[in-house]
Amino acid sequence: MIGLVAATAAGARGCERLAAAWPERTRRYEGGVRDALTRAFAECDQVVAFLATGAVVRLVAPLLVSKAADPGVVAVDEAHRHAVALLGGHAGGANALAREVGAVLGAEPVITTATDAVGLPGLDALPYPAEGDLAAVTRALLDGAPVALHADATWPLPPLPVTPAAPDDTAADRETSPAAPEHTPANAADTADTADPADTADTADTAAIGGGFALHVTDRVPDPAHPRSGHAVYVRPPSLVVGVGASRGVGAAEVVALVRRTLAESGLAGKSVTALATVDAKRDEPGIVAAAAEWGVPLLVFDAPSLAAVAVPNPSAAPLAAVGTPSVAEAAALLGAGRGGELVAQKRKSAMATAAVARRTPRGRLAVVGLGPGARDLMTPRAAAELRRASVVVGLDQYVDQVRDLLPPGMRVLESGLGAEEERARTAVAQARAGHAVALIGSGDAGVYAMASPALAEAADDIDVVGVPGVTAALAAAALLGAPLGHDHVAISLSDLHTPWEVIERRVRAAAEADLVVTFYNPRSRGRDWQLPKALSVLAGHRRPDTPVGVVHAASRPDERHAVTTLAELDPADVDMVTVVTVGNTATRTVAGRMVTPRGYRWQS
Ligand code: SAH
Repeated sequence: MIGLVAATAAGARGCERLAAAWPERTRRYEGGVRDALTRAFAECDQVVAFLATGAVVRLVAPLLVSKAADPGVVAVDEAHRHAVALLGGHAGGANALAREVGAVLGAEPVITTATDAVGLPGLDALPYPAEGDLAAVTRALLDGAPVALHADATWPLPPLPVTPAAPDDTAADRETSPAAPEHTPANAADTADTADPADTADTADTAAIGGGFALHVTDRVPDPAHPRSGHAVYVRPPSLVVGVGASRGVGAAEVVALVRRTLAESGLAGKSVTALATVDAKRDEPGIVAAAAEWGVPLLVFDAPSLAAVAVPNPSAAPLAAVGTPSVAEAAALLGAGRGGELVAQKRKSAMATAAVARRTPRGRLAVVGLGPGARDLMTPRAAAELRRASVVVGLDQYVDQVRDLLPPGMRVLESGLGAEEERARTAVAQARAGHAVALIGSGDAGVYAMASPALAEAADDIDVVGVPGVTAALAAAALLGAPLGHDHVAISLSDLHTPWEVIERRVRAAAEADLVVTFYNPRSRGRDWQLPKALSVLAGHRRPDTPVGVVHAASRPDERHAVTTLAELDPADVDMVTVVTVGNTATRTVAGRMVTPRGYRWQS
């Protein structure tokens, strides 16, 4: 029971809202606050007090016995802005209660205890839908209780907040381990759901043997004939493609009902349906189009010859005559599922429709993420989201350092030193190929003189690739220098480690002749000191000695420095590895100490 205590009218309104939301779970304690809180504290296993934290602390301090015995206490402020888990965060369930109260009142839950679950995505924040006993399992996670993970296959998920096993490795091991038949993709749920609980193969399944907590990553629903005793959450991967065929004029309701029945009879979860699929002749069949819309998934279409080429268990003469393929539902499901797909529900029929379901094999996900030039607020929110979304991060150690605080517990970090580009690219792709969600990180933009091209050169079409742009050094520098890139410009790397100097020099010459503003990346290092003066001399052949040049060191980092000088006056000694040099074109001027390359607007001339 949750005891509710308030001192003011606003507090009383908060009590009413919680009581209305949870009539069975709550009890109001009226009267003077000291007395009300004392009684609630003694009689309830949780208390929500609409009082200042200080008042609650003073009132309950004399009542405290022990962590195990005391109720969990949540304090909510007058304005219902914050729900503070004050006492009994884990044992008393105050952390979970603060979240729940926050959800009802629109208040921010304030949680100050540290657990492994803190910083991990909530079960409702995973990229795939979750269903089942979310409240109980979330509470278990916050309490630090063990939560067993069961994954049919490795899906590209963030580190799951399970304790104590490392989630992704466990899933991968199970997937390949013949000693754990309950976790092989084909029969995972069957054995987990139906095996005799005494079966040794199943003893790891705490949910099945004794009221434990479990997190299942599966498209299967538990067999109703063998209910589980524990609390389970089911994360539904986007694994199922439903093939549908239909006669002209079929209604959406009939298609939807048939799809539901086909899934239910095969023990498959509707939330895992990721697409409907059919023959192209039916691409505009209103009932099928509407069914896909109602399900909230795309409709994939395939031509009859492609469908006819698919081997299916239940070919038939009717569709062959009507649309030119002996199978629509089964063949479209299989084609929709793609390479490695398998039929998991054979064709079912209704009066005017057919449906069948195929399962896709998971595809790993490679996110190529630019972190920006250094400052946290120059990293895009999308880059931060991708870091939370991944379970493996691959990058140069110094870039990993740049974002270490953002990486959730359980994230695997594969960092390497300078020069190991090929190895990093290969590692990132291999991890994605193994089914993981991988973030390959780089400073600035990860596609600019960075990891995107070596990685994508390695990658085949068996993984998904997502690019997140970042603020590249040239832009971070330009913002400090003024407006040097107001007209056509080019970036040139002066590193001749991988590019012959002749090629670099030819490009510098071309930029000089074309009067482009030039930003030099990798302008100078300890071992490479003559390239920058040489490149500048090529530009000087086409530009005046007083052409503005910007030198920016460590843009947006604590040791940031920048200066605007000229072609004649630039001292290469001011330039190092963490510097970009931007040379103006013949129109670039210095205005109030800032570089300005005119856009060429007529009204400005
Ligand atoms: N992907 C990065 C570039 C990598 S090449 C980007 O998009 O910015 C490395 C070179 O980038 C360095 O030698 C330096 O010339 C430049 N650079 C990277 N970060 C910088 C920063 N914060 N300030 C100045 N130059 C930087």
